[in-house]
Amino acid sequence: MNKGRLIVFSAPSGCGKGTMLEEICKDDKFSCSISATTRAPRVGEVDGVNYHFLTREAFEKLIAEDGMLEYAQYCENYYGTPLKPVNDMLDAGKNVILEIEVQGAMKVKALRPDALLIFVLPPSIAELRRRLLKRGTEELDVIEKRVSQAAREIDEAVNYDYVIVNDALEDAVADFKAVIKAESLKTEFAAEQIHEVKKNA
Ligand code: 5GP
Repeated sequence: MNKGRLIVFSAPSGCGKGTMLEEICKDDKFSCSISATTRAPRVGEVDGVNYHFLTREAFEKLIAEDGMLEYAQYCENYYGTPLKPVNDMLDAGKNVILEIEVQGAMKVKALRPDALLIFVLPPSIAELRRRLLKRGTEELDVIEKRVSQAAREIDEAVNYDYVIVNDALEDAVADFKAVIKAESLKTEFAAEQIHEVKKNA
């Protein structure tokens, strides 16, 4: 069986990344890795579904045991990708999506050069601010912090393989699928197929 592809998916807060991933993961060729974090669960979040919620000690133990593919500190908490489930899903032929921030993404790029890095952009900073205001889950000063954080993260988009603008959800998901399709047709993955076609020549 062919191994799946490791896909890094990053986007500033308010870009609609969660909704995009929900749509994408309706296709069972894709699985989202469940990260570990030391931040407290938000209302409605379930341990083992949204994140593995760990104490700092448990998280640091996993790091010491080389149990993390990557990890980063973000807003005073640890976030990381447990290594074993990712390798197991790839071996089972799934395309594994890591929904991670930019520092972690750069670590994955260095460790796994075959990973595909996709960055999701908002149509504009003004639109991002409008979406965060509309969501209404944060105070105005927090929204402004998120907007400046987003502007810093967007500077890193040039280090990714593809950039998708999430203006209309449907178009952004279609762009994601187009990227995956084109990547799957790359010559580097076609050696076996070329060999099969030529077998009885
Ligand atoms: P939140 O606290 O809003 O769930 O996530 C904060 C940030 O952490 C988001 O940008 C999210 O992409 C990132 N994040 C979530 N899981 C991981 C992970 O396993 N590793 C890294 N490096 N970042 C993560």
